[in-house]
Amino acid sequence: MKLVIAQMKHETNTSSPVPTPLARFAHGAPLPLEGAAVRDAYKGTGTALGAFIDLADKAGAEAVYPIAGNAAPSAPVEDEAYEAMAGRIVAAVSAGCDAVLLDLHGAMVTRSFEDGEGELLSRIRKVAPRVPIGVALDMHTNLFPAMGLHATVIAGYQTYPHVDMYETGIRAATPILKSSRATMAFGHRPMLPHVMRQSSLDSPNKEIQARAKEMERQGAGKERASVLAASFFVGFPHADIPYAGSSAVVVTDGDAGLAQTFCDELLDMAWNARRKFVYQIEPLEKSLQRAREMGSGNAHGPVMLLDHYDNCASGGTMDTMAVLGGILDAGLEDVAAFAIFDPQAVEQMKRAGVGARVTIPLGGKLEMPALGLKPKPRMVTGNVRRIVNGIYRNEGPMARGELADMGAAAVLDTGKVEIAVISRHVEPHDIGSFRALGIDPAAKRYVMLKSRVHWRAGLGPIAQAVIECAGEGVCTSDYSQLKFTRVRRPVYPLDPETRPRVTA
Ligand SMILES: [Zn+2]
Repeated sequence: MKLVIAQMKHETNTSSPVPTPLARFAHGAPLPLEGAAVRDAYKGTGTALGAFIDLADKAGAEAVYPIAGNAAPSAPVEDEAYEAMAGRIVAAVSAGCDAVLLDLHGAMVTRSFEDGEGELLSRIRKVAPRVPIGVALDMHTNLFPAMGLHATVIAGYQTYPHVDMYETGIRAATPILKSSRATMAFGHRPMLPHVMRQSSLDSPNKEIQARAKEMERQGAGKERASVLAASFFVGFPHADIPYAGSSAVVVTDGDAGLAQTFCDELLDMAWNARRKFVYQIEPLEKSLQRAREMGSGNAHGPVMLLDHYDNCASGGTMDTMAVLGGILDAGLEDVAAFAIFDPQAVEQMKRAGVGARVTIPLGGKLEMPALGLKPKPRMVTGNVRRIVNGIYRNEGPMARGELADMGAAAVLDTGKVEIAVISRHVEPHDIGSFRALGIDPAAKRYVMLKSRVHWRAGLGPIAQAVIECAGEGVCTSDYSQLKFTRVRRPVYPLDPETRPRVTA
């Protein structure tokens, strides 16, 4: 058996000003890995790609690896980058194979295509009309019909924070390798669940994902068809494209009716819980006031301050200073902040050297035309505490073993706040991001994170309390700041009176 195994992942925030060239898909190297280097880098990692490699090895299959690219979320992918990656994958399939296994995101928009994954799959179908294609997708997939029409099996993450990437790879690939009679149903409901309300650790997504898992267990007893994969996608709302929002895919062993019934059940659960997916915003002043009060208590462990409008893992610039500025103005002490994206500031600190006292314009370098925001750096004075190359390995549970790369990085210590300053976008979902900088977040009174949900994967266990801080950025939690001109309307909650019509 010959397999084509590839990864091409990007979640596109159509309001983000951060560009997405090919180099952004690489980690610790100038360009994404190809060939045997992919296997070497991903074997043994907690990723869908790692699962594909293990299953191929176990089956004694021959595998080719045209590309492994995984970029932090940002603006639409540059055409050149997309064509380079999609071109390699299609060429590998054209050369002949028995099956294709793809580790994709599901919310990729390119300069030319609103549905990057659907475009890739339709190109594969042109050169290999009948080859089975197994696809692992992120829970933030915005599912265009082309994905459902061209893939043979789709399996999506059932956790957010995404700690089941490996298991998702197993669910996507097993029916392909076993040549199961995969029958897939997919559908949508017109709703945009708010990212701050999407965690599978909380209701209502907790119950929906539990039901999807239960569906997969059901039928294994042989009286009825097996459910090979059941996935509910919360969708990614910061993408102004027609199919932004929630969807579901259910794959059964040959029973089309069961696939459709279970798919509809997941969608109905989400629709009926739509009000619980709406987020209420607290003004920043009030959040910081609560933080001050909490920090004066005797509680052990840090209070997490989430700068949720500027999460780089949703396309944020990671350089807005509203929340960190508020923390500095409020005089909070014993704080670690991860992170401010500012390659220029890192360079300045490197030139000054460890131990030097510097006053530099920090953050606020990137203009955000989608929100009408101009650059607003803030002058900050502190000691350069540490300078590192920024490459580390995720300790898990999310993307365990995968190489992470925050670029050249430095710690600016104001005396009250230790600020991580980085030159490549990395969300702090892993304790390794702090360890690489010599900071122990568990020992701090406060930890500021440019994160919304994923931090709970690696840092959740140390949190004593959480305060969500509304700052500034293209991941704004206030949807009224975003332009929705392409998304299908009506859609809940932008149009509160939306009816639950089926839009597949
Ligand atoms: Zn995601």
